Amino acid sequence: KLISVEGVDACGKGSQIAAIHSHLEAAGHTVVQVREPGGTPIGEQLREVLLDSRNQALDPMTELLLMAASRAQLVAEVIAPALARGDCVLADRFHDSGHAYQYRGRGLPLAHVEALENMALGDLRPDLTLLLDLPVSTSLERMGHRGHATGAEKDRIELEAGTLFERVRAGYLERADQEPGRIKVLDARQSIEAVRQAALGHVDALLEA
Ligand code: C5P
Repeated sequence: KLISVEGVDACGKGSQIAAIHSHLEAAGHTVVQVREPGGTPIGEQLREVLLDSRNQALDPMTELLLMAASRAQLVAEVIAPALARGDCVLADRFHDSGHAYQYRGRGLPLAHVEALENMALGDLRPDLTLLLDLPVSTSLERMGHRGHATGAEKDRIELEAGTLFERVRAGYLERADQEPGRIKVLDARQSIEAVRQAALGHVDALLEA
């Protein structure tokens, strides 16, 4: 089974993924955990290029292509072989991030985003996707607590990130509306424990299906 976990920055993906990982192992599954961008040696190099804030000149189309390249490598090198062995694959972000960030966030044409999605994934799609949904104000507040910037710099980042995150969040929710069977929306404002209960409920339902 392939399970992906999605959401805007600071939605709490990290803790939930750790909980799902332990839960799957406790149930006797071998778990392969991946993240994107990244998840392979080549993908991690692409991640560095993509997330290095000094790469200001990174064009949205280049971003899309590098994200897709990272995903193609991840599928070929890790995900497809793991699924063929019967392992559970737990993905910290997957193709829905492309829809949310590159299509809705950066405004690239949907046809391009979908074409690359098909090229990178072939027929492969997650069996279950957990979307940790968070209002943008909460996301920014949580990121603020991580304490990266201060003063005017912080205001500027929050303004830019705020409008971007609004579009990203809308993109995710739109996607969930289109595929309610696969994508389960969880209210990430709740406590970690409450989100965990809901997430594990969906995971168990998938494993029992
Ligand atoms: O979830 P994680 O912190 O690893 O994501 C890394 C960063 O990459 C995030 O800040 C996210 O906004 C960005 N990202 C993106 N487009 C994607 C996937 C991630 O802009 N398709």
